[in-house]
Amino acid sequence: MTQPFYISVAVSLPVMKSYTYKVPDHLQAFCFKGRRVLVPFGNRRVTGYILSMPESCEGFTAKNILDVLDDHPLFPEAEILFFKWISDYYIHPLGDVIKSALPSGLDCHDVSSVFVTQYGQDRLNEGRLTPGEEQVIEFILQRQPCTLKKLKKHHKNITINSLVRRMERKDLIIISAVLKKDGAKVKKEKFILQSDEPKLAVRMSKKREKLLLLVKEKKEISLTGLKMHIPTASALIKPLVQAGYIKVIQRQVFRDPLGDPVEPDTPPKLTQEQEKVVKRVQGNLRNGFSPYLLSGVTGSGKTEVYMSLVRDVVEKGKSAIVLVPEISLISQTERRFRARFGEKIAVIHSSLTRGELMDQWRKIALGKVNIVIGARSAVFAPFEKIGIIVVDEEHDSSYKQETGLRYNARDLAVVRAKFNNCPVILGSATPSVQSYQNVVSNRFEELKLETRINQHPLPRITLVDLKKYKDARGYDRIITPELSKQIRICLDKGNQALIFLNRRGFATFPVCRDCGKALACKYCDVTMTLHKGQNVYRCHLCGYARPVNIKCPECNSSKIQPLGFGTEKVESMLKTLFPDARLVRMDQDSTSQKGATIKILKTIRNRNVDIIVGTQMLAKGHDFPSITLVGIICADLSLSIPDFRAGERTFQLLAQVAGRAGRGEIEGKVIMQTYNPGHFIIEAAKKQDFIEFFQNEAPYRKALMYPPFSRMVQLKISGTSFAKVKAYAGTVADVLKALLENEGKQKNQVQILGPIEASIQKISSRFRWQILVKSSSSAQVNGLVKAMMDHPKIAIKSGIRLAVDVDPYFLM
Ligand code: ADP
Ligand code: ZN
Ligand code: ZN
Repeated sequence: MTQPFYISVAVSLPVMKSYTYKVPDHLQAFCFKGRRVLVPFGNRRVTGYILSMPESCEGFTAKNILDVLDDHPLFPEAEILFFKWISDYYIHPLGDVIKSALPSGLDCHDVSSVFVTQYGQDRLNEGRLTPGEEQVIEFILQRQPCTLKKLKKHHKNITINSLVRRMERKDLIIISAVLKKDGAKVKKEKFILQSDEPKLAVRMSKKREKLLLLVKEKKEISLTGLKMHIPTASALIKPLVQAGYIKVIQRQVFRDPLGDPVEPDTPPKLTQEQEKVVKRVQGNLRNGFSPYLLSGVTGSGKTEVYMSLVRDVVEKGKSAIVLVPEISLISQTERRFRARFGEKIAVIHSSLTRGELMDQWRKIALGKVNIVIGARSAVFAPFEKIGIIVVDEEHDSSYKQETGLRYNARDLAVVRAKFNNCPVILGSATPSVQSYQNVVSNRFEELKLETRINQHPLPRITLVDLKKYKDARGYDRIITPELSKQIRICLDKGNQALIFLNRRGFATFPVCRDCGKALACKYCDVTMTLHKGQNVYRCHLCGYARPVNIKCPECNSSKIQPLGFGTEKVESMLKTLFPDARLVRMDQDSTSQKGATIKILKTIRNRNVDIIVGTQMLAKGHDFPSITLVGIICADLSLSIPDFRAGERTFQLLAQVAGRAGRGEIEGKVIMQTYNPGHFIIEAAKKQDFIEFFQNEAPYRKALMYPPFSRMVQLKISGTSFAKVKAYAGTVADVLKALLENEGKQKNQVQILGPIEASIQKISSRFRWQILVKSSSSAQVNGLVKAMMDHPKIAIKSGIRLAVDVDPYFLM
């Protein structure tokens, strides 16, 4: 009899621990860490992930697994410890942690198609394949397109899975969930190079001379690139090639999301400042894990520093993860990494289709690429040997996942770097209070870039006190004379102006003139917003819409007055004030259709528009050199939000928006309208001085024991019955308080705040309550909340949801 074979499995169910199963003989050859299995659980069958192979199973009889679902591991063994850490820290079921870390398309694996590569074809023609490989390739070629499922069905011998895997690794075949042939997405482009010695003399026209000069200057330039300078380039090339002045080659190019080819670039020589930063990180590599905060205004060359470090790591045979906020991917950063690293990178973000995402994931898992650039989920990229992790714009709120596993990718980047013994670099022009506090307390080392590469100063910011215009008539209250004068000047010079207001819609506060009640959503505890373009009142939380001619739900009056203003109204005012200007609006409404964002970005870049009105979508990452004026309609909007981070977010937002001005050759100007010109946040934003902001903010956080001076967990309780939610929230708080007393931890300062109703009391018909648990000791908060979750009184009640948000970001 053979030795029994056990595996430890994390099941995808809301349970915290892992379970041991037995593997029947015929499945033993397929069980490896990181693969999925199908297991019985109670009277259900569920998916699980193999974590380890324990020697024995003590105390009970293990059940048999039913099947092995994968033919290759979905994540490397090294990542299991990381998953366990996440499960423990975020108090979240391990199986669900793993599920959240993997792309959601896994289950459609079998519809993937198999294609033969050019290399595979060549090998076949040369007769240099093994009989098995030959058989598979011929089968595929007869049946294009051939699904993986079909292939496996026709080759039932047990080794087909590993054979396919081997062939994919050898580049003989390619497996893709996108139902396109290999190569369909590969774009080729003609590139012009200088040739060594001209063989023949040709007549030198002005244009030919110009072309040769350009080629000489750039060493290598695409035909598209050439045509931008010389529209008739195509016709000029041939004689010059024949005479041996230049050469033409075909090269694979990548396209940026705007559809333009990304040409390979060569790294610039680093400035002294950059060199110092790079050397510092490299000199420290021996020490393994080392976290850095790279602070430097926009345009100071941070991205070049990242690319230089990444290249170094990759040359040493390790991998690099580069995290960027979602929005940066459709702008610059991806383009620049592509230009530098070409096909060596995988890109992960939310606008990929499931198939595309799977393909990217596969490239990583198979080791075909060693750089990944992506939004927050890229922190889980299944690399085995990570050499560096970069988090650009580390302060950005899009790193925080707000549903399911509520993790912060910026924080996880640091943890993963620790497990991998490698450096992690958090970069920002406006660092988060948390990261800067880590510098102050010597947990992070600060690296600084203090000058802009182009030596341009930051844009000048002028404050306009809105109180002056409180009683003004006409548009002056919203677009003050100071702002409108600057817009005029900007337009007359032929430049672009960006007008920022972080609130969309036309009228944001519709009020009944008869009874005085605001028009509220039927399902949420917020007022609705009038959207003139769509002809509806809409709720921004749940999407519920009411017709524009609605009568007041309270008193049936038809006199609803559209007070308050959003981007749509500002747009219409600007149209009236500047009838000669071309306008575009960029907010969630104008970009909801697929492709709309890119279209708008393109019109801005091609300068087919003079004034751009938008929300924070416009604040980040974009680089439009023609914008010379930024107008901020109301700088205080986010200041009054009841959240201890309101000030931090406002500062970051204002500094980022201001930074959109003057990125080109002309110095930028910013008009910031505010009701609170003396407020320290507004003052610091005006000077774009992060340190000043931090020094004012930190003492206040410390006094109130807010993060980063404490660890906080928010318990979010919601449900459709107000009474039940309230009662359950009470029970949760009672259990917490009792546990705290029992354990005699009163001496240590764990605070339990609540239960209280959330600031937004209802969303989508669900009533919301919350409890905050905070303490200076991370372990105590964690232990207390875990003990509470295990308490019998907390057993899941039907219709009630209890979500645990560790390090919550939005407290609303
Ligand atoms: P940041 O990421 O801090 O905003 P970037 O890395 O984007 O700064 O640099 C700003 C601009 O300066 C970019 O156009 C970049 O190509 C250029 N740049 C950066 N470093 C150098 C360098 N060492 N030499 C020349 N140009 C550089
Ligand atoms: Zn009314
Ligand atoms: Zn609603």
